[in-house]
Formats: sequence, C-alpha cells, structure tokens
Amino acid sequence: MNESSTPHIPTIIPRSEHPISRAAISANALKVLYRLKEAGYQAFLVGGAVRDLLLGVRPKDFDVATNALPEEVRRLFRNCRLIGRRFRLAHVHFGSEIIEVATFRAAAAPEREDAEDPDADAPATAAEEPEDRAIDPRGRILRDNVYGTIEEDVWRRDFAANALYYNIEDFSVWDFAGGFADVAARRLRLIGDPDARYREDPVRMLRAMRFAAKLDFTFDPPTEAPVARLASLLDGVPPARLFDETLKLFLSGYGAKSYALLRRYGLFEHLFPLAAAAFVQPPYAYSEQMLEIGLQSTDERIGADKAVTPTFLFALLLWGAVLREMNERNAGPAPDVAQLLDACDVVLKKQQSRVAIPRRFSVPMRELLMLQPRFNRRSGVKSLGLLHHPRFRAAYDFLMLRVQVGAADPDVAAWWTEIQTLPQEERLQRVQARPGQAPAADGGASSSRRRRRRRGRRSGTPPAAP
Ligand code: ATP
Ligand code: MG
Repeated sequence: MNESSTPHIPTIIPRSEHPISRAAISANALKVLYRLKEAGYQAFLVGGAVRDLLLGVRPKDFDVATNALPEEVRRLFRNCRLIGRRFRLAHVHFGSEIIEVATFRAAAAPEREDAEDPDADAPATAAEEPEDRAIDPRGRILRDNVYGTIEEDVWRRDFAANALYYNIEDFSVWDFAGGFADVAARRLRLIGDPDARYREDPVRMLRAMRFAAKLDFTFDPPTEAPVARLASLLDGVPPARLFDETLKLFLSGYGAKSYALLRRYGLFEHLFPLAAAAFVQPPYAYSEQMLEIGLQSTDERIGADKAVTPTFLFALLLWGAVLREMNERNAGPAPDVAQLLDACDVVLKKQQSRVAIPRRFSVPMRELLMLQPRFNRRSGVKSLGLLHHPRFRAAYDFLMLRVQVGAADPDVAAWWTEIQTLPQEERLQRVQARPGQAPAADGGASSSRRRRRRRGRRSGTPPAAP
C-alpha cells in the first residue's frame, strides 16, 4: 500500500525511546485502557492524543482502539453507550469526559457520524446491526463496520502522524506507517494513495488544513498536490458534517491560519460560496478583512480560555454575502431593516445546502446582524432598548469590527461605548438632548424617515453598510 513502510510489521518504539508519560494521559483514558487489558483485550491509545503527547501538546481528547467488539466493550463498562450506525463506536462516560473506544477496522476510514444526525446517539438495536461496509459509486465510504486487527486498522486512518498506537501493555508506541518520523519532522502525510484517500472521504482535505494550522505541520508534497484539483468533492459531503468541521476549523484556536489555508487551497469557496463571492467584489471586500480580524481575536479569546460562539462566527462569515444580497435585491437606493432580514434569510437558505447552520445559531445570528442599522439611532428613549437586547453584546462587538475596517462610523461606536458606562439618568439625558440627531441615520424604522432618506441618497451606489 505504501512502499515507504512495511504493512503488518510495526516499528515498536519502547518506552525508553519516546517521551510519552502516563502522567500526561487522562486518568479516565488510563482506566479504560487498563480494564480492557485486564479483560484480555489489546488496548491502545490512538490518533491525535498520541501525536499531541509526542509534540508535548495537551490532547483535546483521548481515543482508544481495541480488538474488543463494541458489545464486549459495553459489557466491561457500566457507563458505556454504543453510538453510530455507519461507524459504530463505544463511548465510555466519566462525567463530562467521554473516552471513545473504537474496535479495530479492516478498511479505509469512513465518514464519521454527522453532527446533527438524529440517529447518531441512538443506541443501535440488534435489528439494525450494521456489520458491513457500503461504498458509493464515487468511491466514498458510507458505512464501515467490518472489524479487523490492528494491522488492518492502521490503513484506514488518515495521516501517518495520526496512526500511532500507544500500547498499555508495555507503554511502547507502535508505528506501522512512519508516523513517528513524521511527527518529528512536523509533516502531514496521508497513508496510501492521496487521490484515493481524498475521494473516499473529501473531509480529509479539511482535516489536512486544520492539522497544518493547529500543529504547524507542512504537507508532504503528494498529500498537498491533489487538494486544489479535488476541492469540489466537498460539494458532495453532507452539510451537517461540514457544519461540524467548520466549527473545528474556526473555533479551535487556529481559525485565522485555517482560513488562510482554506483560501490558499481553494477549499473555502466550497464551504461558503456566497461569502467567497462577496469577498472579491470591491464594495464588500472589507467583510473579508472583518472576518480575518474577527478570527484573530477569536483565536486570542480561545487562547485565554474565554468563551466563543458559533453565532458570531457565522455573522462574520456571512455579513458580506448578506449585504451583497440585500443591495442586489433592493431596487431602490435605501435598504431598510426588513430588507436586511430578507437578505439574511435568502443567504442562510442557500448556505444550508453547503454547511448546515442549526437554528440555534442562525436565529441569533440574524438578530445580531439586524441590530447593526439600529446602532445609528441615538435619539429617543426607545433607542436605549438596544442595550437590553439579548444580542446587544455580540452586535456591539460586531459594530466595533466594522469600525475597525472603516465600514461604520467611529462616532456612533464611541457613543455606544460611552453610553454603557453611564447611569440610567444620564443615558436618558443623552437620548433626549439630541433633537438635531439626523433621523436619516436610523435604519429605516419609520416610513417618514425612510422617505427622506431615499430622496437623499444617490441611486445606483450600493451603501457599504446598512
Ligand atoms: P484532534 O482530536 O486533535 O482534532 P485527532 O487526530 O484526534 O485530532 P479525531 O477527529 O479525534 O482527530 O479522530 C481520531 C483519529 O481517528 C484520527 O487521528 C485518525 O486516526 C482517525 N480519523 C478520524 N477521522 C478520520 C477520517 N475522516 N479519515 C481517516 N481517519 C480518521
Ligand atoms: Mg481526537
């Protein structure tokens, strides 16, 4: 399969020759490994955890591979659930930590369960026992539950650096595919024929970008070469799965770098085609800058253990597309809030066919964007209502980003920055003491204002912002 390594015979790196210490492994993962071992099964820590431990990075999660069948794993652990139909896995629960236990498989890796797949968490019943494999005419693996040995399991993994096995028996690392050297060289190399591996599962292209960004790895040239050519295969991936991958790409602390890589390899336009189109149109090009700055600050927040939300991310990703849609649909020169919302709905609807954004994020995203024109209104007691809107904070942060790229009035932003610091008394004074406040700045809240504004604006030039 890969002539640079010998299948079936691993290089075994003894404990004395690698730095992985049990102290760095999750206590729960160790419990699972030891219990499997004591029951007479093989048990290995696998995947990203081994790679990260070798790099001295704290792993995000700890995955276990074993020759015990899912049912046998379930019998060993009280706190265990079997999940997935297309890719059967055991989840051992310890409070909020889940140790994923996969039985060795005898094939190239399938698509993992979709994020929003309603069946994903349903325990499989005997009636739907899916002990087989399904491959579609394009070569994509749809289902894979053919179990095998560790020697077979290794070839279904994506990158050699992700295919190292830490053996609980003697704490050695088993390396079938040259992953140990790859980790040392910080190299990302697909196992097997790259073209075929991307066709089997096009998400591997996204995973390549994510790992390169997160780990600061470079691509092995044969792994890199087919990506631009095969990028359009992403169009055939279920949107729910791409939603999952999108969050991993942008909300794992390396979003800015992931974005740059997705652009460089022509993958981003297959995830967010409307955004990509807006970014290259001069009146909306600044929205890409907003995205880049926004991703950078998101990365910083994650680095500082602060909360981040997909709502804000999708607002950043889709703002340019929404503005473009709004201006193209709007025959008259002055779009209003209703038109902004319409545009938002059209963009979201089209976007769902690529990356499915669940309502729990798209609804607040819509609100966040809708509040943008409302910032312009700074007179009358009602304008203060904005401060109590559940989306105020996010919308305000978004406004600050617009200011940063020169797409919103800094005076407006400064006003909202200050008003938050004032006691209610003074807030009221501010909004009442502004009789001369240009009502044209309102996002079209009243029809008389809208009329005035329409007259005032030159037709034909799309406004850069609402
Ligand atoms: P991290 O958890 O840091 O994001 P990881 O490498 O652990 O990275 P997971 O998505 O947790 O990635 O998957 C665990 C392991 O399962 C991977 O290391 C890889 O060996 C295998 N794997 C996951 N997804 C695929 C895939 N689409 N194709 C092939 N192998 C995969
Ligand atoms: Mg992992």
